[in-house]
Amino acid sequence: MTKTLFSPAPGTQSPLALFAGGKSVTREPGDLFTWPIITEEDEEATLEVLRAGNMSGTDVTRKFEGEFAEWMGVPYALGFNNGTASLLAAMFGLGIGVGDEIICPATTYWASALPVYSLGGTVVFADIDPMTLCLDPNDIERHISSRTKAIIVVHYLGHPADMDAIMAIAEKHGLKVIEDVSHALGGLYKGRKLGSIGHVAASSMMTGKSLAIGEGGMLTTHDQEVHDRALAFGHYERYTEEIPTASLKRFAGIPLGGFKNRMHQLSSAVGRVQLRHYDRRCAEIRKAMNHFWDLLEGVPGLRAHRVDESTGSNMAGWYGNHGLYRAEELGGVSVTRFCEAVRAEGVSDCQPGCNKPLHSHPIFNEVDIYGHGRPTRLANSVRDLRQPQGSLPVAEGIGRQVYFIPWFKHYRPEAISEYASAFRKVSEHAAELKVADSGDEENLGGWNFFHPTT
Ligand SMILES: *Cc1c(COP(=O)(O)O)cnc(C)c1O
Repeated sequence: MTKTLFSPAPGTQSPLALFAGGKSVTREPGDLFTWPIITEEDEEATLEVLRAGNMSGTDVTRKFEGEFAEWMGVPYALGFNNGTASLLAAMFGLGIGVGDEIICPATTYWASALPVYSLGGTVVFADIDPMTLCLDPNDIERHISSRTKAIIVVHYLGHPADMDAIMAIAEKHGLKVIEDVSHALGGLYKGRKLGSIGHVAASSMMTGKSLAIGEGGMLTTHDQEVHDRALAFGHYERYTEEIPTASLKRFAGIPLGGFKNRMHQLSSAVGRVQLRHYDRRCAEIRKAMNHFWDLLEGVPGLRAHRVDESTGSNMAGWYGNHGLYRAEELGGVSVTRFCEAVRAEGVSDCQPGCNKPLHSHPIFNEVDIYGHGRPTRLANSVRDLRQPQGSLPVAEGIGRQVYFIPWFKHYRPEAISEYASAFRKVSEHAAELKVADSGDEENLGGWNFFHPTT
């Protein structure tokens, strides 16, 4: 922990821990933040697979898929080795190919969009809504061209995107919708499961995520042909002439994508156990997280990033949860400086920023990955669809308006109130932080999400 040498006003002693005051958080966290929750049940399930020498089969995975599909409320679920592979297969499943464009929010993890390059397609980014941090439905239509095939929706940091508006735009323009549910599995939008609303959904289940099974991804859809195409793409052992979609039958035996993307059965076994407990564990997380924000209601500079659960929506497991920051209510103190003071109070994972805006990375501007002689993003395009700085202002500025908050896995009001006190105290003493505030860096945040453990 760093402490600045100078106190805010000479001769006064600040209560802020940053200036040598007492810390707000004094308790040991114990297992308050531990995730995933692993019990003997998970251990037994994996040992069973190991002892049977069954790591590379598909029988456990198929059971997991069946249970997952039922839980999601869709007819088809297909397991993958990771979420990125399930997104690529979802794109292929919809028939996205050479020269096609997808629209994706600029604020997300790269895997929401980047796999489209492997299909000869490309991406156009749209801006996000500053309150939901998800794709802004009002910024979709200006990006649609005759080559647009699909809209990627990310339920970012657990918050459901505005699906009614997005599905209506898709329908109007004959586009498909891919839900990336990596942050929000189990969440609801007006009573409907996230991942069951669009034409296809894909999700990461790597260990840092909300539904954490090891490494794994899951594709879900109502559409048999999308499922069959995704299977034909990267599941050679299941791509046989038994495949129901007639157009795929005669190529059976070798995967069309040239990929091998099956889920490791140790992950499938963990997934089956985790899924059984998931809704109950998420309910406790929601109770804890909502309690945290209830304690901070009305505190200057701070706003919750959450949904009104009375509408039938929720944030499931609150993956990667952030708070919204309003510097103007705190005398212009930067979020970077604010977080420094909160960390000093004993909240070690309070970092500023979120995912940096993807359209500003060289891979979407300059890089010629496959030797086309021009940037891969434009390799099969008839126009220059790169997006300069200034074109997606919300995504470009959002890093200065968000910060990580603790991810409580248990409802323990005494402990949670210590963490809330840390944020409240720093807000109350924000004026003192103007000293030595060197401001925020441009493009605050990261290309990859780190997974804080507090
Ligand atoms: C983690 C993540 C992915 C990729 O999943 P992996 O399992 O890491 O391959 C895709 N989209 C989003 C939004 C993610 O957070």
